[in-house]
Amino acid sequence: MLIYKKCPYCKSTKLSIFTVKNNISLSKCKNCQLVFMNPMFDKLELKKIYKKYFTSMNEIGQISYGYKDYEQSRSKNNMKKYYFDWFKKYAVIGGVVLDIGCGTGTFLECLKHESYKVYGLEVSNQAWKYLEEKKIPYFKVSTSKANLKKYDNIVLIDTLEHLNSPFKDLSKIYKSLKSGGFLFIETINIDPISKYPSLIDKWTGISPVHLFYWGEDVLINILTKIGFQIISIKKSPKITLKFFSVIINNLKKILFLLSIRKIFNKRINLNNNISFSRLFDISKNLQTIRIIAKKN
Ligand SMILES: [Zn+2]
Repeated sequence: MLIYKKCPYCKSTKLSIFTVKNNISLSKCKNCQLVFMNPMFDKLELKKIYKKYFTSMNEIGQISYGYKDYEQSRSKNNMKKYYFDWFKKYAVIGGVVLDIGCGTGTFLECLKHESYKVYGLEVSNQAWKYLEEKKIPYFKVSTSKANLKKYDNIVLIDTLEHLNSPFKDLSKIYKSLKSGGFLFIETINIDPISKYPSLIDKWTGISPVHLFYWGEDVLINILTKIGFQIISIKKSPKITLKFFSVIINNLKKILFLLSIRKIFNKRINLNNNISFSRLFDISKNLQTIRIIAKKN
């Protein structure tokens, strides 16, 4: 384990405990607001953790991580549905794309069919055979020549939170982009949890493979310091978080009022468990931020 006494970004020693959940402890830097796993798994430990990441769900403490079937959950249809509009609005059309943390390459497969020139970058040797089957050229991080090339579009979908040296990596990414090129990031958004800590119990974002937990201000600060221009920021979902926080904080009262209502009016067959578990499902997902940044 790596123990950070200083913030890995701004080097401030003013760290506080953000949360401890299922043996995973997160620190928050009081200076730059960065949230990160501390102590953090080192490279050797991560290698073990990622061994079966794409084909079987594993557990550390009480947290499950990885995918039962990555190919299924990241199907072409899903990738198109979630990312095409966002990507295509700004992407250099038909340009060279590098997908960092491309997994089994489904997103690149979709782009390849639309005449983009695609490259993947993936650490997991479990994913490499899929990339070979799909005939997607890829870089293995250990022997990476990825940053010798120049790209029009670089994509980090659900990747930034996994990187153990994200600050260096973002600078390398900047250098690897052509001028006028775009960086597309989708990652964890910790801001709602910072704002409404009562959401943390149900939140599924804490995982042994998530090393950094990003927020809007921190990301903008880091990217602009590197030289990027921020083009677009989207947070998901758009519903107000305060609404959820109020409900979760007052759950007992609400359930009590609903049960009284049930007694007085039996025709209202309201299944509390179902409605509230649905609500929690939504609150679990209050966690992503999408940023598009440009190299001028
Ligand atoms: Zn800091």
